[in-house]
Amino acid sequence: MSSLVQQDSIPAITSAVQLLSARRLIVKVGSALIADADTGEIRGPWLEGLIEDVVRFVARGQQVIIVTSGAVAVGSRRFGRLDRRLQIVEKQAAAAIGQVQLMHAYDQSLKRRGFGVGQLLLTAEDVDNQHRCLNARATLEQLLKVGAVPVVNENDATTTAENCFGDNDRLAARVAHMVNADVLILLSNVDGLFTQDPHDNPLARLVTEVRCITPEIEAMAGHSAARHSSGGMVTKLMAAKIAMDAGYEMVIANGIKSYPLAAIENGGPSTWFFPRAKDKDRARY
Ligand code: GLU
Repeated sequence: MSSLVQQDSIPAITSAVQLLSARRLIVKVGSALIADADTGEIRGPWLEGLIEDVVRFVARGQQVIIVTSGAVAVGSRRFGRLDRRLQIVEKQAAAAIGQVQLMHAYDQSLKRRGFGVGQLLLTAEDVDNQHRCLNARATLEQLLKVGAVPVVNENDATTTAENCFGDNDRLAARVAHMVNADVLILLSNVDGLFTQDPHDNPLARLVTEVRCITPEIEAMAGHSAARHSSGGMVTKLMAAKIAMDAGYEMVIANGIKSYPLAAIENGGPSTWFFPRAKDKDRARY
């Protein structure tokens, strides 16, 4: 069987079935979605749509954990510069400032719908160390049990280039593995993985299904690393490898419009990554 399927759009039924049958989902929100690219302000109306989608999932019995980016993007306003131009210590301070504003926005939006929220700021060390990882998992389980929506980010205020994930794609994949999630949704500002750079090449096609990460697939991610999203496609493929090894599904979709989860369910453009087998290797956790 070919490792990839290309077509203009994924049948709505596939995405709807995948999302409806998931008991536990991780939704990763990219900085470009939560923060305005020019002003760094939180995109309030967009967040309302996302939270409405999340609450709808919870109402039908599903559990949702949000992994959010945006702390640095939001906090960088204080420095009068966009996040990419900050030095490390400025970035850490920006994250400390922006994280509070980010959580306030999530808290207010969830509260309006009768939900609580719980924040986890994790480091790569937390996820790599089995004891700390088990503690983080227990906290997440407890939050879900009491009906508070867990919102996770990397602890950017204390991490440096040497000891960080640096992107929330891999962090979200590790969290998904940690809590035995069924589906990881990477909401980005791109439709998914393209065969070529769609900005340069009109023949570029969206890859709608991947069942094996081949060198061919990796080459596709290479060309889109810098241009299309904050984490880039390279880190998204790294996340996909974690997902496929661990035995859960992952989808990359463009979340820039309102109600981004409903858009996936309704068959909006996306790339699905399917594990070879469903026998989840959870031994590590
Ligand atoms: N953790 C970073 C933040 O909150 C974002 C990392 C990423 O872009 O994936 O700003």
